[in-house]
Amino acid sequence: MNPHASSSTDGVYTTLLLQEADTTRTISWNPQIVLSDHRYEGAPCFLYAPEGQADLVFVDYFPSLQSIASWSIWNQPIHLQHPVPAFFIAPIHGKGLGMIAQRPINAGEMIVTERPVWAGRSRISCAADQTNANGIFHRAAIRGLSEPSRIAFFALANSYPPAQYDVVPGILNTNCLGITVPTRDSRAQQNPGSRTDTETYIACFPTLSRANHDCTPNAHYVFSPATFAGEFRAIRNIAAGEEITITYTSLCAPSAERCAFLATTRFFDCRCATCALPAAQLRVSDARRMRIREMLVKIEEARFPPRIPISELREAVGWARSEGLRVEEGRLLLCGSQVLTVYDGLDVAMGWAKEARKVFETIEGARSEYLRKLDDAYRVHQRMAAAPRPLNI
Ligand SMILES: [Zn+2]
Repeated sequence: MNPHASSSTDGVYTTLLLQEADTTRTISWNPQIVLSDHRYEGAPCFLYAPEGQADLVFVDYFPSLQSIASWSIWNQPIHLQHPVPAFFIAPIHGKGLGMIAQRPINAGEMIVTERPVWAGRSRISCAADQTNANGIFHRAAIRGLSEPSRIAFFALANSYPPAQYDVVPGILNTNCLGITVPTRDSRAQQNPGSRTDTETYIACFPTLSRANHDCTPNAHYVFSPATFAGEFRAIRNIAAGEEITITYTSLCAPSAERCAFLATTRFFDCRCATCALPAAQLRVSDARRMRIREMLVKIEEARFPPRIPISELREAVGWARSEGLRVEEGRLLLCGSQVLTVYDGLDVAMGWAKEARKVFETIEGARSEYLRKLDDAYRVHQRMAAAPRPLNI
C-alpha cells in the first residue's frame, strides 16, 4: 500500500489524499465552491450542486462558477419524467455494456432523460492539462459527490490506458457527451433555458453515457439547459431487443475518417453495420455523406444564402434520408429553406421550413434550438407575405 494512502472503501480514488489536503481550499459554502490547487493562479475550481446534496460536480474557472452557482435551477427540486423504462443495460458482444430496448419504441419518443453527475469545461479534463498527471484535482472534485452519484461515476467504463491516464480523467474522456451552457447574459443566471450566448462543455451521465456508438444511430442525444438534463429521443422506430445507439462523431465524414477519430479518442474500432458494408456500398455511403457535408458547409457557413438550384437541395435531402441521418436531413431542410426564401419564392421556402419543423419536433422535442431558428424564419416569412408586392409597370 502507498504510505500516503488513506483507508479505502472502494479502492479506487483515495490514494494521495494527504497531498490533496495540502492543495484544496473551500472558497464558498453557499453553494460549495472549492479551489483545488491554490498554488496555481487561476487554477480550476469545482462546484457541488444542488447545495447539500452534491448530486453533481461542476468543474470550471471561478468567474464562470460564480455565475453558474447563482442559477435558480439548483434550488429547485428535479422533476424529471421517469416513465416505465424503455430500455435496460446489458453486456453487448465486443462493446462492454450497452442500452437495449425492452419494448418497441416509436420515432420521436423520449427514451431517457437525466442530469449529469459531472459537468465541466472540456479543457480542464483533457489529457494535456497538468492536473491529469496525478488526478489529484479530479479525485478531489469527485470525492464530494453523494454516494449514489459517486458509485454511478466509478461504474462507468474507462477506455484510456491506465499507465498514462488517471482513472478519473480516463472515465471522463471515455464517457463524456457535449452540453451547452448559457454564458455572459445576466438573464441566463436566473433562467439557464433563456436564449443567450452559449458555450460548449462536457458531461458524464450515469445512464446516457452507457449508450454505444453507431454511424447510423437510432437515437439522438440533446442537452436541455432549462432542466440541465440530457435527453435521448428515438430517431426512428426501434424494435424490442434492438440496441439503442447514438453517435460519438460527425456522421458526415467518410467511414475511414470516422473510424480513425473513434480509434484515437475512444479507443475502439467501429464495426457498425454501416462501416461493415461491402466495399462498393460503403463507397456510395461515403460519397453521399461527404456531399451532405459539402452542402451544409456551403450554406451554413455563408454570410448570405448562396444560389443553389432546388434540384441540388432536393438531392442532398434525399441522400440524408437514404443514409438515415435525420439531424442532417433537418439541417438541410432548414438551410435549404433559407436559400429558397431568397431565390425561389415564399411558398416553396415555407414548405421546406414546415418539413424541417417536423423533423426537429420528432428528434429533439419542443425545446429544440432548431425550432427557435424556425420560429425566426416563420416571422420573416409572415412579414414577407404581408409586404406589398411591387407593381408591374
Ligand atoms: Zn461505424
